[in-house]
Formats: sequence, structure tokens, C-alpha cells
Amino acid sequence: MDKRKILLILLVSVLAIFFLNIIKVKIKPGIEAVKTTAISTGEENWSDIETFIDLIAHEEIDRTDFYLYGAEKGFEKIAVSSNGYLPFYQQEPLNIINGIVPKSNTDIRPGRNRTTTKYIVIHNTGLASPAATAALLNRSINNSTREASWHFTVDDKEIYQQLYIDEVGWHAGDKEGNEYGIGIEICTYQGIDFNTALRKAAKLTAKLLIDYGLGFNAIKQHYDFSGKNCPQVIRESGRWEEFIELVKIEYLGQTKFYNIDFKWISKSPRQLDHYGRIINNAEKVYYQAVVIYKGEMRIFDLNSRLKQ
Ligand SMILES: [Zn+2]
Repeated sequence: MDKRKILLILLVSVLAIFFLNIIKVKIKPGIEAVKTTAISTGEENWSDIETFIDLIAHEEIDRTDFYLYGAEKGFEKIAVSSNGYLPFYQQEPLNIINGIVPKSNTDIRPGRNRTTTKYIVIHNTGLASPAATAALLNRSINNSTREASWHFTVDDKEIYQQLYIDEVGWHAGDKEGNEYGIGIEICTYQGIDFNTALRKAAKLTAKLLIDYGLGFNAIKQHYDFSGKNCPQVIRESGRWEEFIELVKIEYLGQTKFYNIDFKWISKSPRQLDHYGRIINNAEKVYYQAVVIYKGEMRIFDLNSRLKQ
């Protein structure tokens, strides 16, 4: 090879590295992950879709009996006997209600920006009276002078945002958690469909992981920072791993499978609703996953046994 040829190859390589890097830095970390794992074409993609469906279509559905814990007198410990669920992946976007605390409330809003996001910090409200909904918490934080604040409040119906994401909140009881964490409060009021609240919180958590290019180990409990027994309901019922699994389903749904249509249809409507909730006990429930990918529709006939 002559010298000119070698120089040309070198020049092309340097330019290629230069341009690739430019492209790389322009893409947000989360989005980049989407691009590299996005499905191309072919039968192997349908096998990926089947693996995703397997994550959701549990062979066996367990009941979810647990306790809610509240600070209010008479609501310290409430037994919940709830039917289980299948985490049917829902493609609807998150509807986040703006409840940003006014700037004038300096107890809640220290007006300090966070420099970076390393953690999503999960909490339970520790309020169990039936009135302690996300809507009520949103109203009360706006009038509060207590130095406690967080970014999102989630229940089984709504998600409110109280602080801009890039602002410091007072929720982790620790500098590291407050400075680098986004705080999510999951409600625990009597009567809440806690399974659904967990699924909503998982959808929000997955979105934040994607937006900030974080991995699953960035999901923390309040306990991890200050040793407080929070999120108490999740901790005491041993449901933390279940929550992480829900986040993983949401993460896949929002990244790898974002361009695929999923629809879940209960074939046992008296026992199972289209959202995946068991509404009546039965031995078995039947349902379908209807998937449309690149104009092709496939219907998966599925069933799950209820643990008796
Ligand atoms: Zn907490």
C-alpha cells in the first residue's frame, strides 16, 4: 500500500470517529438505548414479542393480601384483602397533572436546582385514612409549611407533579438522596387499589429512567438513604421485587416495543377485566394479547391459573 492510500484511510477513519461521536453526544442516553435495541424486521422479532408477553402472562396469579400503614389515629394498620392481577401492558401515555407548588412557598421549594439525576426514590405516604388521596396530598402540600416535598404523587387514579424535576425536594432525609433523586410518593389510603397504584408508579419510574438514561439499580427506597422504614407498605409486604419487575415491563414497553400495538382482551370478563385485574375468584382466567407489528396482526390465546 502506498503512503497516500494509508493517509486517506487514516483520514476517513478519523472523520468517521469524529462524526459518530457528534451523533452520539447529540442523542440523549435513554434515546440512544432505544435506537440500538429497536426491532428491525423478521421472525426473531416476533419471538422477542413472545418473550415480552411471557413476562406479563404469569402462569399463576397470586392473591395480594397485605397491610396499609398510616400515621392517623385509627388507621395505623389496615388489612387489605385484594385479588391479584396480570400486568397487562398499557400503551396510553402518562397523564401528569400539574400541581407545582408556588415559588412563594419557600418551605417546600428551596429554589435550588439539582445538578444531576442519579436516583428515583420511592416512598409511601404513610397516610391511610380514606381521604389521603393524591388529589388531597396535592392540595395540602400547596398550603403546607412543613419542610417536606417531593416531585410526584401517585394513586390508583392520578399522578400529580409538585416540583419541577430539576429542583431539590426534601424527601430522602439525606443529602445524597435529595440532591440527586427524584421523589415519588405512592399513596396508601384505605380503599386504594394499591396494585394499580404500583403499576402507575412503575410506568412513571420507567419513563424517568429512560429520560435520564438510568439503569434499574437507580431505583431506590427512601430506606436506602436514611434507614426510614419507607416505602413501608411495599417493604412490609415483600413487594419490592414485584415493583421492579413492573418497571422492567414498562421500560421494555416504552423502549424496545414502543412501535408495536398491544391490546389485551379478557375472555373471562366476569373474573378478569381488560386492565388485567382479577375481579372475581375463579380457577382459571382466559385472555388474548392482540399484537400489531409492521401491519401484521397476531393473536395470542393465553390463560392463567389462580392460586387457591
Ligand atoms: Zn419516604
